[in-house]
Amino acid sequence: MSRSDMTDDELAAWKARKDAGRAQAHAAEMQIALLLRDNPEGIDGFRIFCARMNPYSIRNCMRIYGQNPDAAHVQPRFFWGGYGRQVEPDAAVWIIAPKVERKFTKEVENKQTGQVEEVEDGYKIWPVEDVFPAQATAPKNAPCPFCDTPEGERCPESCPVMQPQAGVPPTREDVAEALAAVLKQVGGFDPSALSGLGQDPMQDSYGDPYETPGVRWETIAVTKGAAKWRKPGTRRYRFIHSVDLDRPGVRYTIAGLGVIWISPYELRSDSGGDAPVTIQYGDDVTADRHWDSRYHHAGPHAPIINAIKFAGTSIVYPHDENWRWFAPHREGHGTVPEKTAEQMGQIVRQLLDHYRGLVEYDAIEEAGFKRRADRRAREAEHEVARLSEREQELAQQRADAERCAAEHRHQAANPAEL
Ligand SMILES: [Zn+2]
Repeated sequence: MSRSDMTDDELAAWKARKDAGRAQAHAAEMQIALLLRDNPEGIDGFRIFCARMNPYSIRNCMRIYGQNPDAAHVQPRFFWGGYGRQVEPDAAVWIIAPKVERKFTKEVENKQTGQVEEVEDGYKIWPVEDVFPAQATAPKNAPCPFCDTPEGERCPESCPVMQPQAGVPPTREDVAEALAAVLKQVGGFDPSALSGLGQDPMQDSYGDPYETPGVRWETIAVTKGAAKWRKPGTRRYRFIHSVDLDRPGVRYTIAGLGVIWISPYELRSDSGGDAPVTIQYGDDVTADRHWDSRYHHAGPHAPIINAIKFAGTSIVYPHDENWRWFAPHREGHGTVPEKTAEQMGQIVRQLLDHYRGLVEYDAIEEAGFKRRADRRAREAEHEVARLSEREQELAQQRADAERCAAEHRHQAANPAEL
């Protein structure tokens, strides 16, 4: 609902919620600033909190910490929607967005000349916004693709969504500067407090801060063309990956999209040339075969684009510029529409770049080669057994034919026996 659709009562409630949020954000910021002023030994711990909250500013980190010190990973409601998650509205944490400047020209009458003149005017606003910690979110409409928690239930702490993100902490000096700004009205912040902190544990010998451990989310983007009801736009998806050398392959878990596996193609020829890979949509799609071989099951966490669920696998030649043949299957019968396939093609190309850049890439390729060699050895064994079986069959047929022919000869020589 946009603000212009609201009734007066709704608008008043919306304003009251925002005003309360702004007051809460300011109180939390002041509370944490005073706490750090009086306990500067807490500054390094606060810097780790800031590193996790990437990309929020130090002052917003004070506001978030003051309202929810247990927050590990926060995002705006709209972002959580993109992750395929619903939020508990009561868990809102209030931050102040970077200021927005509005400039306009207005017409003013000049009292002396009596003429109307154009005058530049403008104002600055610091909008208040709400963000939500991961703990206050749950998978919506489908199980969590990261940990399989059913929809509507809370993911365990081990779920990557619940975990802090990897990030670079601000320096102690940056924190001191933010503290000085917040405490300006109440005596400021004395930066000499930093000298009592000793060696910075988060700084390498070059003076650069270390990245703190956490989940490293990566991003892919899909450009969707214009449609009657929509402007062209770019949708960003965040993903994490895990390498499985037993399979071998890489599982890409993409928030708001689903799971895609990339593996060396199991029937690759190994005689040089192209190195095709198998793209699998969802988990375990081969486990459950339908009696109708043209029917494709969608595996768990199968990706969905434009409300179309992908199923089965595609074989892709990463070096081939020509992707005309790229026609992934959809759940049930048939292939996905061309536009949707093109969008999946954008995703697969970006994932392939990632896959081929992995430090484990050689190990995955080698594991794939070994599996194919094992398969060929098994097939060769099977072939030997099959051939000897066939030979016995042929010998039997020959014997039958000879016996038959002998009977015919006997009958021809002894017509009286008929
Ligand atoms: Zn989860």
